[in-house]
Amino acid sequence: MNSKDSERVQRAVEMARKAHEGQMRKTGEPYIVHPLAVKKILEEWGMDEDTIIAGLLHDTVEDTPLTLEEIKSEFGEPVAFLVDGVTKLSTARNGMRDIDTYLPATKDNFLRLMIALGDDIRVLIIKLADRLHNLRTLSALPPDKQKKIAKETLEVFAPLADRLNMGLLRVELSDLSFKYVDPRRFEELANLIAKYNKSAEKSLQKIRAEVTAALKKEKIDFEISGRVKSVYSLHKKLAKHNQNINEIYDLTALRIIVGDITDCYLALGVIHALYTPMEGRIKDYIAMPKQNGYRSLHTTVITKDKHIVEFQIRTREMHEYAERGLAASFYYNEQKLTENYKKGKIEHLPTNLLWINELQTTAAKLREGKKVDLKKLKLNLFADKIFVYTPKGDIIDLPKGALPLDFAYRLHSEIGDHVVGVKINGKMSNLNKRLEQGDIVEILTSKNQTPKTSWLDRIITSHARQKLMRALRLKPAEEKTVKKKRKAKKT
Ligand code: MN
Repeated sequence: MNSKDSERVQRAVEMARKAHEGQMRKTGEPYIVHPLAVKKILEEWGMDEDTIIAGLLHDTVEDTPLTLEEIKSEFGEPVAFLVDGVTKLSTARNGMRDIDTYLPATKDNFLRLMIALGDDIRVLIIKLADRLHNLRTLSALPPDKQKKIAKETLEVFAPLADRLNMGLLRVELSDLSFKYVDPRRFEELANLIAKYNKSAEKSLQKIRAEVTAALKKEKIDFEISGRVKSVYSLHKKLAKHNQNINEIYDLTALRIIVGDITDCYLALGVIHALYTPMEGRIKDYIAMPKQNGYRSLHTTVITKDKHIVEFQIRTREMHEYAERGLAASFYYNEQKLTENYKKGKIEHLPTNLLWINELQTTAAKLREGKKVDLKKLKLNLFADKIFVYTPKGDIIDLPKGALPLDFAYRLHSEIGDHVVGVKINGKMSNLNKRLEQGDIVEILTSKNQTPKTSWLDRIITSHARQKLMRALRLKPAEEKTVKKKRKAKKT
């Protein structure tokens, strides 16, 4: 227990301790270690007291004799509501089928999950804290479970953290998970980053000194620091750029934090006067914030010694928001938000998080039994991604426009290599059909099937391409020739 805890929080700690008495975690520690860790994470994120109490009690209703009624009479309706939400969410996750009776029969389980959450986004924040601690202690689980949880985190929870602009959380969730999903690749890239950073250290020091002097001369108040690229984001970037490390320009980045927006642009000017900016690499996310509300100026420059460095320039507030996202807005608006939750609505979210409002309104309508056109709900949670399902209900995320063979190779190269057909939502379909959000995809295979060169036209992901090329025993240079020949044949 922490002496700083309020009397209410102290009571919640005692309640959780008593409820979990005698239970152990897979790590061999007493179970209470877990809710206490979740409490600490939520405190670090600056969450309000109700959320912290609900975090302490989040596993009690599901795993102990404690009831929701008892929590309600002890801590009030909002806390009970949050605990109930987290409990429902974890059951939803297990089956992804039966979230709640009021949800319409949409085939998109992920959308259903989000609507169930829409009642109160704090449920999701508790869930993210819960997931973070479980990942930090994942080594205690058997390897197959490790992989499953890590994969789900990469596919669902890390993108959610990104959508909420919780940058620090996104990085920690994805790097922790990636280590379990692909340990060899993780090690390889972590070493690569370390090596690169070491070799860039000296020149970076020089650049820092130059920039510092120039900014001081302009009388701009600032802080400058290095930012280290996360392993998983490098992995994703490399996949986009055909594994060519020379096309990754933000391996080294410096972050400049200034007082206000005017100084952001002034600092940008100072840097461009000092070094040559690279064409097409200046991004003004202040005038045009990213969809998740991220704001910053980015520019990549080439120094006199031909070093390529990315600069990120932002105000303190933008920085807080980039790292802690939604949690940061709670911190700034805690009182207002808590008041509005009591009234059952969120009003003071930053406008860039309006999608949460939309989610909430829809959830409320559904609860009242009103008809809602889900297709009109522009969640745009993952603008460039779709989520499709295996017949068993496992979620697979793919880029928009992905085809059945992309899906098959994502499951396993053994499956990809032997595809004879596909059923989409129970109906026979063909391999040219683009998959859509929420599709249930069943791949039909035959042992006698072998990969075809024609399949090269029926995949869009580099992952599937690599696997197919390997199966066809083609070298990258040969792909073009094969495609040309096929075209010649067609005409
Ligand atoms: Mn838990």
